Amino acid sequence: MSDSSECTGTCGTCAQDGCAERTEAPAQTCGGNQDQAALKNRMAKIKHKIIVLSGKGGVGKSTVAVNLATALAMEGRDVGLLDVDIHGPSVPTMLGRFEAPVQNTATGIKPVSVDSMKVMSIGFLLQDRDDAVIWRGPMKMGVIQQFLQDVEWGELDYLIIDSPPGTGDEPLSVCQLIDNPTGAVVVTTPQEVAAADVRKSLNFCNQLGIPVLGLVENMSGFVCPKCGEVTEIFKVGGGQRLADTFQVPLLGCIPIDPSVGAACDDGTPFIYHHANSPAAKAFAGVVAPILRLTETKKTKSQTAASTKENTMRIAVPVAEGKLAMHFGHCATFALVDVDTENKTVLGREDVPAPPHQPGLLPPWLAERNVNLVIAGGMGQRAQALFAEHGITVLVGAPAETPEDVATQYLAGTLQTGANVCDH
Ligand code: ADP
Repeated sequence: MSDSSECTGTCGTCAQDGCAERTEAPAQTCGGNQDQAALKNRMAKIKHKIIVLSGKGGVGKSTVAVNLATALAMEGRDVGLLDVDIHGPSVPTMLGRFEAPVQNTATGIKPVSVDSMKVMSIGFLLQDRDDAVIWRGPMKMGVIQQFLQDVEWGELDYLIIDSPPGTGDEPLSVCQLIDNPTGAVVVTTPQEVAAADVRKSLNFCNQLGIPVLGLVENMSGFVCPKCGEVTEIFKVGGGQRLADTFQVPLLGCIPIDPSVGAACDDGTPFIYHHANSPAAKAFAGVVAPILRLTETKKTKSQTAASTKENTMRIAVPVAEGKLAMHFGHCATFALVDVDTENKTVLGREDVPAPPHQPGLLPPWLAERNVNLVIAGGMGQRAQALFAEHGITVLVGAPAETPEDVATQYLAGTLQTGANVCDH
C-alpha cells in the first residue's frame, strides 16, 4: 500500500505501518515450511479450495462439508474432500468408509475413492474408530500439512476441507497452508451462544484475508417427520442478522431433519439419498453459488473461440513492463494465455484498464475470459467478487514481467509474500 489515503483497512493483511487492521500475512507466519514448493505445486492443480469452518463443534460442519462435496460431484465436477477435523473426524462415518485402507505410493498418499470423489481423513489413520487422538500440536500440524501436500489429489475443480472447529492453531494452520483459498463457508446454528462463536470465525476470516463465500445456518427449525411441518425451536433470524452485520451472503437455513441425522449415521449423504427432503432442498442454496465458480468458467470457455482445453488466461496488472502493485489503479492489464499441460506461455495481449469504478474489474476481466489474476495485493472483498465471477486470485506476487510471473506460476515456483494492501 503506497497511498495511505486509499487504505480502507479491510484487507486485514496490510503491510502499512499504523494500519488498524494490520495482521501478519499467512506467508509470513508460516515460517519454517521447507516443503512449501511441493505444497504449492499440489495446491496449484486445484482450482477452488473451500474451507468449511465453524465456531465450535457439533453444529453440522462435517455434514455441510460432506454434502457440499457430494453435491458438486453429482454435478459432474472433479471433487476432493479432506477431513482434518483431528478431534472429530466424522467424514469416514458419514461416507460409510470407516475401514478404507490408506495406501502410500512412490508419489504420495493415495486418496480413498468414494464414487467419483477423492477423500482423505484423519479418521482413515485411526486403527479403531473409538481411538482418541492425543497428538501434540506440532504433530497435528504435520499431519494437516502432509494431507494437503502428499495426498495425490491431482487436477480438481474443488477441494472441500472440513477444518477443525474454532479459531485456534489448527484451523489457522489449515488456512495458512492452503495457498490462496477460494473462500470459506461458515456453519452455525441459530442459538445466540453459537452466534457469538461464529462472529469469531467471521473475524478470523477477515483477519486472514479469506473471502467468506457465505454463512450456513444449520439446525434451523425442526421438520416433523410425520406431517413435514417446520417448528422453530430457537430464535429465528440470527443467521440473517449475522450475515447482514458482516455483509456476507446467507447461503441457506437447513432444518433439523431426522433423515439428515440418519443419513449421516448410515454413511449415505442426504443430498443424494434423500434428495427430496426439506434439508436437501434448503441445501441447494448452499451449493448453487459455489457451483457457479466453475459454471462461469465452463460457459465462458465454451463460448470463447480462442479458449482450448488445457489453456488458461492469466491477468497481470502492469506498470513499466512489470507487475504493478497498484492493482485497482493500473493503466494496463497483460492477459497472458498459457498452456497448463506443457507449462508454456502461448501469447500475451495488453489491454488498457477500464475507468476506475468499484466492483467493475471482476466482470470486466471475466468477460475477457480471465481464469486467474496474479497481483501484488488485493482486499478480501475484491477477492470475493472475483471468486463470484469464477476467477481465482493469487496475491503477494513479485514485481516481475507478466511472462515471468506466469512461467513461475506454471512451474509451481512463484514466490508469493504478503498481500500488499492495494485497492
Ligand atoms: P460438526 O462437524 O460441526 O461437529 P456434524 O456435522 O458432525 O457436526 O454434526 C453433528 C451431528 O448432528 C451429527 O450426528 C449429524 O448427523 C447431526 N446433524 C447435523 N445437521 C443436522 C440436521 N440438519 N438435521 C439433523 N441432524 C443433523
